[in-house]
Amino acid sequence: MRALVVEDDPDLNRQIAEALGDAGFAVDTAFDGEEGHFLGDTEPYDVVILDIGLPKQDGIRVLEAWRGGERTMPVLILTARDQWSEKVAGFDAGADDYVAKPFHMEEVLARVRALVRRAAGHATAEITCGPVRLDTRASRVTVSGNPIKLTALEFRLLSYLMHHAGRVVSRSELIEHLYDQDFDRDSNTIEVFVGRVRKKLGVDVIHTVRGLGYSLAAPEDAA
Ligand code: CA
Repeated sequence: MRALVVEDDPDLNRQIAEALGDAGFAVDTAFDGEEGHFLGDTEPYDVVILDIGLPKQDGIRVLEAWRGGERTMPVLILTARDQWSEKVAGFDAGADDYVAKPFHMEEVLARVRALVRRAAGHATAEITCGPVRLDTRASRVTVSGNPIKLTALEFRLLSYLMHHAGRVVSRSELIEHLYDQDFDRDSNTIEVFVGRVRKKLGVDVIHTVRGLGYSLAAPEDAA
Protein backbone atom coordinates (compact mmCIF):
# COMPACT_ATOMS: atom_id res chain seq x y z
CA MET A 1 0.00 0.00 0.00
CA ARG A 2 1.28 3.39 -0.95
CA ALA A 3 0.23 6.81 0.35
CA LEU A 4 0.82 10.45 -0.57
CA VAL A 5 0.88 13.22 2.05
CA VAL A 6 0.40 16.78 0.74
CA GLU A 7 0.88 19.20 3.65
CA ASP A 8 2.95 22.38 3.76
CA ASP A 9 3.59 22.33 7.51
CA PRO A 10 6.86 20.35 7.62
CA ASP A 11 6.34 19.02 11.17
CA LEU A 12 2.81 17.89 10.49
CA ASN A 13 3.82 16.39 7.16
CA ARG A 14 6.56 14.39 8.86
CA GLN A 15 4.27 13.23 11.68
CA ILE A 16 1.63 11.97 9.26
CA ALA A 17 4.23 10.33 7.01
CA GLU A 18 5.84 8.57 9.97
CA ALA A 19 2.51 7.35 11.32
CA LEU A 20 1.56 5.99 7.90
CA GLY A 21 4.99 4.39 7.55
CA ASP A 22 4.55 2.68 10.93
CA ALA A 23 1.13 1.48 9.79
CA GLY A 24 2.74 -0.31 6.84
CA PHE A 25 2.48 2.22 4.00
CA ALA A 26 5.13 3.32 1.54
CA VAL A 27 4.86 7.10 1.78
CA ASP A 28 5.64 9.98 -0.59
CA THR A 29 5.42 13.57 0.60
CA ALA A 30 4.76 16.91 -1.08
CA PHE A 31 4.83 20.37 0.51
CA ASP A 32 2.88 22.50 -1.95
CA GLY A 33 -0.08 22.12 -4.30
CA GLU A 34 1.91 21.93 -7.52
CA GLU A 35 4.22 19.16 -6.36
CA GLY A 36 1.28 17.33 -4.78
CA HIS A 37 -0.79 17.62 -7.92
CA PHE A 38 2.05 16.30 -10.06
CA LEU A 39 2.67 13.25 -7.85
CA GLY A 40 -1.02 12.38 -7.52
CA ASP A 41 -1.37 12.75 -11.27
CA THR A 42 1.54 10.50 -12.20
CA GLU A 43 1.95 7.92 -9.40
CA PRO A 44 -0.57 5.28 -8.34
CA TYR A 45 -1.54 5.85 -4.68
CA ASP A 46 -3.84 3.74 -2.56
CA VAL A 47 -4.73 6.78 -0.48
CA VAL A 48 -3.91 10.52 -0.38
CA ILE A 49 -3.94 12.89 2.59
CA LEU A 50 -4.43 16.38 1.21
CA ASP A 51 -4.29 19.65 3.13
CA ILE A 52 -6.65 22.32 1.81
CA GLY A 53 -4.55 25.40 2.62
CA LEU A 54 -1.46 24.93 0.43
CA PRO A 55 1.01 27.28 -1.27
CA LYS A 56 1.12 27.55 -5.08
CA GLN A 57 -2.18 25.71 -5.62
CA ASP A 58 -4.80 25.12 -2.92
CA GLY A 59 -6.04 21.65 -2.08
CA ILE A 60 -9.47 22.17 -3.64
CA ARG A 61 -7.90 23.05 -7.01
CA VAL A 62 -5.52 20.09 -6.75
CA LEU A 63 -8.39 17.72 -6.02
CA GLU A 64 -10.55 19.13 -8.83
CA ALA A 65 -7.69 18.68 -11.27
CA TRP A 66 -7.17 15.04 -10.20
CA ARG A 67 -10.86 14.19 -10.45
CA GLY A 68 -11.16 16.01 -13.77
CA GLY A 69 -8.32 13.82 -15.02
CA GLU A 70 -10.06 10.66 -13.82
CA ARG A 71 -7.75 10.05 -10.87
CA THR A 72 -10.00 8.04 -8.57
CA MET A 73 -7.79 7.21 -5.56
CA PRO A 74 -9.36 7.79 -2.13
CA VAL A 75 -8.58 11.28 -0.80
CA LEU A 76 -8.80 12.39 2.83
CA ILE A 77 -8.71 16.17 3.16
CA LEU A 78 -7.37 18.12 6.14
CA THR A 79 -9.51 21.17 6.86
CA ALA A 80 -9.15 24.12 9.19
CA ARG A 81 -11.21 23.90 12.36
CA ASP A 82 -14.75 25.29 12.12
CA GLN A 83 -14.40 25.88 8.38
CA TRP A 84 -17.58 24.10 7.33
CA SER A 85 -17.32 25.73 3.90
CA GLU A 86 -13.95 24.00 3.30
CA LYS A 87 -15.55 20.63 4.00
CA VAL A 88 -18.39 21.33 1.57
CA ALA A 89 -15.99 22.57 -1.13
CA GLY A 90 -13.76 19.55 -0.47
CA PHE A 91 -16.54 16.98 -0.85
CA ASP A 92 -17.86 18.77 -3.94
CA ALA A 93 -14.36 18.66 -5.43
CA GLY A 94 -14.23 14.87 -4.92
CA ALA A 95 -12.95 14.24 -1.38
CA ASP A 96 -13.91 10.92 0.22
CA ASP A 97 -13.48 11.96 3.84
CA TYR A 98 -12.07 14.77 5.98
CA VAL A 99 -10.41 15.42 9.31
CA ALA A 100 -10.44 18.89 10.87
CA LYS A 101 -7.26 20.29 12.40
CA PRO A 102 -6.11 19.81 15.06
CA PHE A 103 -6.66 16.07 15.01
CA HIS A 104 -5.54 12.89 16.71
CA MET A 105 -3.27 10.83 14.49
CA GLU A 106 -5.21 7.68 15.43
CA GLU A 107 -8.31 9.16 13.83
CA VAL A 108 -6.45 9.93 10.61
CA LEU A 109 -5.06 6.37 10.51
CA ALA A 110 -8.47 4.81 11.17
CA ARG A 111 -10.05 6.88 8.41
CA VAL A 112 -7.20 6.01 6.03
CA ARG A 113 -7.61 2.28 6.74
CA ALA A 114 -11.35 2.54 6.13
CA LEU A 115 -10.81 4.38 2.83
CA VAL A 116 -8.24 1.85 1.62
CA ARG A 117 -10.33 -1.20 2.40
CA ARG A 118 -13.53 0.37 1.04
CA ALA A 119 -11.72 1.22 -2.20
CA ALA A 120 -10.71 -2.45 -2.47
CA GLY A 121 -14.26 -3.61 -1.72
CA HIS A 122 -13.88 -4.73 1.90
CA ALA A 123 -16.33 -3.67 4.58
CA THR A 124 -14.52 -4.86 7.70
CA ALA A 125 -11.11 -4.24 9.30
CA GLU A 126 -10.10 -7.91 9.00
CA ILE A 127 -9.51 -9.56 5.67
CA THR A 128 -9.29 -13.35 5.52
CA CYS A 129 -8.05 -15.64 2.81
CA GLY A 130 -8.35 -19.28 3.81
CA PRO A 131 -6.35 -19.67 7.04
CA VAL A 132 -4.61 -16.30 6.55
CA ARG A 133 -6.08 -13.35 8.43
CA LEU A 134 -4.95 -9.75 8.04
CA ASP A 135 -5.94 -7.35 10.81
CA THR A 136 -5.60 -3.91 9.20
CA ARG A 137 -6.03 -2.14 12.57
CA ALA A 138 -2.98 -3.73 14.16
CA SER A 139 -1.04 -4.40 10.93
CA ARG A 140 -0.98 -8.04 12.04
CA VAL A 141 -1.13 -11.30 10.16
CA THR A 142 -2.10 -14.71 11.53
CA VAL A 143 -2.27 -18.16 9.94
CA SER A 144 -4.78 -20.46 11.62
CA GLY A 145 -4.65 -18.10 14.60
CA ASN A 146 -0.86 -18.11 14.93
CA PRO A 147 0.84 -14.73 14.54
CA ILE A 148 3.31 -14.41 11.65
CA LYS A 149 6.23 -12.02 11.89
CA LEU A 150 6.74 -10.09 8.66
CA THR A 151 9.07 -7.23 7.77
CA ALA A 152 7.47 -3.91 6.80
CA LEU A 153 7.92 -4.66 3.10
CA GLU A 154 6.65 -8.24 3.39
CA PHE A 155 3.60 -6.97 5.25
CA ARG A 156 2.97 -4.33 2.60
CA LEU A 157 3.16 -6.96 -0.13
CA LEU A 158 0.79 -9.38 1.59
CA SER A 159 -1.57 -6.57 2.55
CA TYR A 160 -1.77 -5.36 -1.05
CA LEU A 161 -2.41 -8.87 -2.38
CA MET A 162 -5.04 -9.57 0.30
CA HIS A 163 -6.84 -6.30 -0.35
CA HIS A 164 -6.95 -7.35 -4.01
CA ALA A 165 -7.61 -11.07 -3.55
CA GLY A 166 -9.44 -12.76 -6.38
CA ARG A 167 -7.69 -10.95 -9.22
CA VAL A 168 -4.25 -11.13 -10.79
CA VAL A 169 -1.82 -8.45 -9.61
CA SER A 170 1.07 -7.88 -12.00
CA ARG A 171 4.64 -7.54 -10.84
CA SER A 172 4.80 -3.93 -12.04
CA GLU A 173 1.59 -3.07 -10.17
CA LEU A 174 3.08 -4.55 -7.01
CA ILE A 175 6.26 -2.53 -7.42
CA GLU A 176 4.28 0.67 -7.88
CA HIS A 177 2.29 0.07 -4.70
CA LEU A 178 5.08 -1.21 -2.45
CA TYR A 179 7.79 1.37 -2.89
CA ASP A 180 7.91 5.12 -2.49
CA GLN A 181 9.20 7.21 -5.39
CA ASP A 182 12.77 7.43 -4.10
CA PHE A 183 13.21 3.68 -3.85
CA ASP A 184 15.48 1.97 -6.33
CA ARG A 185 13.04 -0.45 -7.88
CA ASP A 186 14.00 -3.82 -9.22
CA SER A 187 11.31 -6.20 -10.37
CA ASN A 188 13.44 -9.24 -9.52
CA THR A 189 13.25 -8.44 -5.83
CA ILE A 190 9.47 -8.90 -5.92
CA GLU A 191 9.90 -12.60 -6.54
CA VAL A 192 12.29 -12.82 -3.64
CA PHE A 193 9.78 -11.11 -1.34
CA VAL A 194 6.91 -13.25 -2.52
CA GLY A 195 9.06 -16.32 -1.85
CA ARG A 196 9.80 -15.15 1.68
CA VAL A 197 6.19 -14.35 2.45
CA ARG A 198 5.09 -17.75 1.13
CA LYS A 199 7.65 -19.46 3.32
CA LYS A 200 6.62 -17.53 6.42
CA LEU A 201 2.93 -18.19 5.85
CA GLY A 202 3.60 -21.88 5.31
CA VAL A 203 0.32 -22.25 3.42
CA ASP A 204 -0.23 -22.14 -0.31
CA VAL A 205 -2.35 -19.02 -0.84
CA ILE A 206 -0.22 -16.86 -3.15
CA HIS A 207 -0.40 -18.29 -6.65
CA THR A 208 1.92 -17.39 -9.49
CA VAL A 209 0.06 -16.73 -12.71
CA ARG A 210 2.67 -17.39 -15.35
CA GLY A 211 3.57 -14.31 -17.37
CA LEU A 212 0.97 -12.17 -15.58
CA GLY A 213 1.78 -11.91 -11.90
CA TYR A 214 0.33 -13.16 -8.62
CA SER A 215 -3.07 -13.87 -7.28
CA LEU A 216 -4.52 -14.71 -3.92
CA ALA A 217 -7.49 -16.99 -4.09
CA ALA A 218 -10.72 -15.26 -3.19
CA PRO A 219 -11.87 -16.63 0.21
CA GLU A 220 -14.34 -19.16 -1.22
CA ASP A 221 -11.74 -21.09 -3.26
CA ALA A 222 -9.00 -20.96 -0.64
CA ALA A 223 -10.05 -23.95 1.44
CA1 CA B 1 -1.62 24.28 5.25
